[in-house]
Amino acid sequence: MTGTAIAKYLNERIPRYTSYPTAPHFSAAVGPASYRDWLKGLPETERLSLYLHIPFCTTLCWYCGCNTSITRHRAPIERYVDSLKQEIVRVAALAGSHRVAHIHWGGGTPTIVGPELFRSIMDLLRDRFDVEPDAEIAVEVDPRRLDGMMTTALAISGVTRASLGVQSFDPQVQKAVARVQSLSVTKRCVELLRGAGIQAINLDLLYGLPHETVATCKATVEAALTLNPARFSVFGYAHVPSMMKHQRVIDATALPDADERLRQEQAIGDALVRAGYMRIGLDHYARPSDPLAQARLDGNLRRNFQGYTDDPADALIGFGASSIGLSRYGYVQNITDLKGWRDRIEAGELATARGLALTPDDGLRGEIIERLMCDLRVDVPNVLRRRGFPSDYFDAEIEALKPLVADGLTRIDHGVITVPEAMRNLVRRVASVFDAYLDPTAGRHAVAV
Ligand code: SF4
Repeated sequence: MTGTAIAKYLNERIPRYTSYPTAPHFSAAVGPASYRDWLKGLPETERLSLYLHIPFCTTLCWYCGCNTSITRHRAPIERYVDSLKQEIVRVAALAGSHRVAHIHWGGGTPTIVGPELFRSIMDLLRDRFDVEPDAEIAVEVDPRRLDGMMTTALAISGVTRASLGVQSFDPQVQKAVARVQSLSVTKRCVELLRGAGIQAINLDLLYGLPHETVATCKATVEAALTLNPARFSVFGYAHVPSMMKHQRVIDATALPDADERLRQEQAIGDALVRAGYMRIGLDHYARPSDPLAQARLDGNLRRNFQGYTDDPADALIGFGASSIGLSRYGYVQNITDLKGWRDRIEAGELATARGLALTPDDGLRGEIIERLMCDLRVDVPNVLRRRGFPSDYFDAEIEALKPLVADGLTRIDHGVITVPEAMRNLVRRVASVFDAYLDPTAGRHAVAV
C-alpha cells in the first residue's frame, strides 16, 4: 500500500475506536448517581466482563502510554488493593447477581500486587459475583517481574491467559526506551506460565520505536515466534510528549517516519501471516485454533478498551483508578488520579468521574464503526433497518466516502461498505466518516498508521 493517494492519509490523526464515542467526549454529566442507576438497571440475564486496573510499575518504560505510577514500596500498593476491594464490594451490591464471563487484569503491572493479594482479590470476585466456571481470566504480565510464586498464584486463581509485553528484542531499541528485556527472560516467563498450566500466551509488539527498522522488526518477530504464542498484538508507538511528559526523554530524531512505520508494520504482519497466524482486525494476530480467530470467522469479534476480543459479555465493569465501564446505558470512567479515586471509595461512594449516556444515534454509529474495525465490512442498510432508522439516514456519510472510494480505501455496493485487504491499515479513516464527534484539527489521537 503505497502511492501519493495513500500518503496523504498516513499522518492524519484518527481515534483507535476502542469505543464510540471515544473517551475524550466523556463528560461530568455522568457521575456516581447515573452509574448507580445503570448498575441497578442491568437486565438480570446480562453477563458481565470485569476489568481491574492496577496502576503501579517498578520502573518506567519511556514509551509508556498507560495510566501508571512508579513505586518500589509495598504500602501504596497495599492501600490501593484495600480500596479496590471496597469498590468491588460496593459495585457487587448493585450488580453482583450477574454471571461473569470474562475478567481482565490490566495496568501498570497487575502482578505487582503479589501472590497473596492477587488470590484474595480473585476470591472476593468469586464470592461477590457469579463467575462462570469456564470464564476467561486474563492478566497482563511484565516478563521481567514474574516469579514462580506469583505464577503459582495466577494458576491457583484460575488465570487462563497471559499477555506479555515484549515490544522489541533489539538491544539498541530497548536501551532507547529504558526497557531491557532479553529473549531468554521472556522465554523463562513463558515456560513458567506454561509449566503452571497457563497455556494461552499473547505477546505484544511495538513498531515505530526509536531506532527501530524493518530489519529489527523482522528479527524481533522471528525471535518471538520461537515462543509459539497463541496471539500477537502489534501496535504502533504513539509519540505524544505533550500528553505523556515522560516521552520527552525519547530522542524524537531517532523515530521512524510514517512511511517507515508502515513498512515495519507490514514486515511484522507478513511474517506472522507466513507463520500461520490469522490477521484479526487492525492489529491482532491469532493462531487459527485460538478463540479470537474463531470469533473473527463467526462474525462475533468485538472491539473494546483492550483491543479486539471474543468476550461475549453484555456489559463491562471497570474497577480501579481510571478504569472504564460500558453498559447498554453508556460509558463510565473512574477518577484517574490515584488519591482522588481512593478518597471517593473510602468515603463510601462510587468513583465515577465522567461518562457518556448513549443516544440511539451513538449506538447506531458505534455499531457501524465496530463492524468496520472488526470485519472490514458493514451492511449499512441492514443495520439501519434493524435499529429502526430511515434508509437515507447516512446519505451524507455515503457522499463523504466518495473521495475515499476514488482513492481505493473502500468500496460501496448497495450500501455495503468494504475495506479491501490491502487498505486494512486505513480502516480507521473509513470508520471516522461515521464519527459525529470527530474534530479533524484535534491533535490528541494517534496517526492513522
Ligand atoms: S511495564 Fe507497561 S505500564 Fe509499566 S511503565 Fe512499562 S509500559 Fe508502562
